Formats: sequence, structure tokens, C-alpha cells
Amino acid sequence: MTAIEQDKSQENSALHFSALEPPRRYLFGPGPTMVHPRVYEALSKPIVGHLDPYFIQVMGDVQQLLKTGFGTSGATLVISGTGSAGMEAAVANFVEPGTKFAVFANGYFSDRLTEMAKRHDANVVRFEKPWGETFTEDEAREFIRREKPKVVAYVHAETSTGALQSGQAICAAAHDAGALAIADCVTSLGGVPVEFDQTGIDVAYSCTQKGLSCPPGLSPMAISARAMDWLRARTFPVRSWYFDLKLIYDYSTVSHRYHHTAPISMFYALREALLVIAEEGIEKRWERHRRCHKVFVKGIEAMGLHMHVPEAHRIATLNTVGVPKGVDEAKVRKRLLDEAGIEIAGGFGPLAGKVFRIGVMGPLATEDNVQFFLKEFKRTLSAEGYSI
Ligand SMILES: *Cc1c(COP(=O)(O)O)cnc(C)c1O
Repeated sequence: MTAIEQDKSQENSALHFSALEPPRRYLFGPGPTMVHPRVYEALSKPIVGHLDPYFIQVMGDVQQLLKTGFGTSGATLVISGTGSAGMEAAVANFVEPGTKFAVFANGYFSDRLTEMAKRHDANVVRFEKPWGETFTEDEAREFIRREKPKVVAYVHAETSTGALQSGQAICAAAHDAGALAIADCVTSLGGVPVEFDQTGIDVAYSCTQKGLSCPPGLSPMAISARAMDWLRARTFPVRSWYFDLKLIYDYSTVSHRYHHTAPISMFYALREALLVIAEEGIEKRWERHRRCHKVFVKGIEAMGLHMHVPEAHRIATLNTVGVPKGVDEAKVRKRLLDEAGIEIAGGFGPLAGKVFRIGVMGPLATEDNVQFFLKEFKRTLSAEGYSI
């Protein structure tokens, strides 16, 4: 083969890759979750420019539609990036060097918040609890009164443990102390009520690929009027230019001046996903999730398995189920994927090997689907040596 021939054959190497044909999966994990066919269709629509009046309208629609899920009449925004981008934006914009930042730490994502706050030079104080537990109202108030932080952060739905943390007392105590309350609503938005205004949250961030049944790629946020005032009063520039909320707010709602090239197709997808939710009705969707959660728990307990989180503090859309003794959870997950095309997740950190994390949300949250899952899960556990 001559050098020229060799170049030619390398040029054509793309021909040797097979066409993209992802396997069909039932995404019963914590995310990404199943995507509605209408959302896939939206992704295939022709793009327009990021400053095109049509796109500005799409962004406006998304901001408006997001208010229902968040439960706010105030400002919403969308960050280009996954849930962690929203987390980074929340931390970067409300922390200045030395800001006292209090974290309610009971899982993996509160640790990530801690790490980000430290990198932004916050003075971080933590209230730690074992993974799967939550904080009572008295504990929350006492901690904030004692520490007098400027910013308080908690995880509403802690995906690593399955525990739901009420923000009512945390936000009230934060306001009494003159602090701002940040809530991680990455797993809760679209799946369970967030009640941003009623709870008194100042900054909430989420993602598209969990409760909203959309592919990953965007991070919706809600921002209170108080938090907006804080942003305007900032003297020290936000260290992250890309996540500067003042600049992003200006691009998306005020001047529509270029800040970055928004991922057009993902905004189409999010708009469609939010429309699918609006057509069902958010209250009905929450109720559907609650109903399926009950069916799920009943089936799990009938197999002799136990839920990791006490009943009063469970996330309806994300279940943590204890791994029975003598069963290798990684083998169960592999067999479920190989034999039934079902994806679930395992635990990590202190819960590694101890829990399965099973999401029942969006299009998968029907009684038939839950029964299908339970049947396959039971069969797989038996194959891996568990006797019921
Ligand atoms: C998934 C998740 C994140 C991170 O979101 P990514 O989209 O993976 O970046 C943050 N917080 C919680 C509670 C999550 O479940």
C-alpha cells in the first residue's frame, strides 16, 4: 500500500463504525430517566440562532413553564450544563471569599456542595448525620442560631440515600439569621412538590434528566427576590464568568445580549418535556408518583426486603432498598441489565454494597411498569441466591 492509499483508507475509517443503535433500556435508576417520544421529536427540529426571536420566545416559554414545578411566581432561569452546573452557579454567586456557609450534610450531594463551597473560599460549617437520616425542625433551627451563617444549603431530595429533607424550618431559621437558603432540588423537581415560595427557598437548582423526563444537559433554577437583591449588591465579582447569574439573567430575560451560545436543541427538549407535564397537570403527576411509590414499597416488603429510609422521609420517585445478606448487589444489577434491559443503581460512600437505588418516575411510573419491575427484580434476586 502506498502512502497515499494508506491516507485514503484512514479517511474512510468512519465507514467501519456501525450505525448508532443504543440498546433499549428501562431506566429504573436515579437518572437519566425515560424520555417521552415527543421530547425526542423536539430534539430533531431544526435549530435557529441563540439570538433569534424564535429562540428568545422558547427561552421565555421555558422560564414560564418552570414556575409551576418549582412552585414560584418569581424568577426562573436555565443554566447550560447538568445539575452540577446549577450547584456551581448557586455556590459561586452567593459565596464571596470568607462567606460563612452552613451545610446540612447527610449524603453524597451535600458533600459535593461542601467541596464546591470550599473551592470558592467559603468558610464551611457542617451539621453531619448518617446517610439516610434527615434533620428535625429543632435541630435545624438550633444549628443555624448557633452558627449564624450567611448562606445555608441543604439537599431537598438526597439521591444517594433516598431521604427527603423538609426545608420549612431551615429556610425560616436562615431568614431569621439574615442568611440566604439554597436548596438542591435536582431529584425533586417534576417528581415531588418543591414549593419554592411557600418554603421560603432563595435559590434552587435542578436538572433535566431526573424528575422532568428529559435528556441531561440543562439546569433549571429558581431565584427569590431577596437573592436577586444579594446579586445586585455584590461587590466582589463572581469568580465564575460562565455561571455569573447576573449575566445569564440579562441574556435570558432582559437585554438578550449574547452571553454564551445556548444549547438550542436542549431548550426545545425541555420546553416539550414541560409541556408534557403541564398537559398531565403537575398535581396529577405528583399523585401518580405517590401511588406508584406505594405499590412499589408494598411489593418490596412482600419480598421480605426493607426500605432504607423511614416511611415519613422517603422520596416518592427514588427508592433505596436494603441489599439482603449474602447477595452481591453488583451481580444483581448486571443480571438485570443483561437479561431484562433494566438499569438500577447501587449505593456509594457509606452505602456502597448496602442499597439498591431504584427510580420510579416519569413515563415509568405506572402500576403496570412497577409490577413488571417487581417481577424481574424478584426473579433476578432469586437467581443470585436470595430466597424469599
Ligand atoms: C444528580 C444530582 C446532582 C448532580 O446532577 P448532574 O446532572 O449529575 O450534574 C446534584 N444533586 C443531586 C441531589 C442529584 O441527584
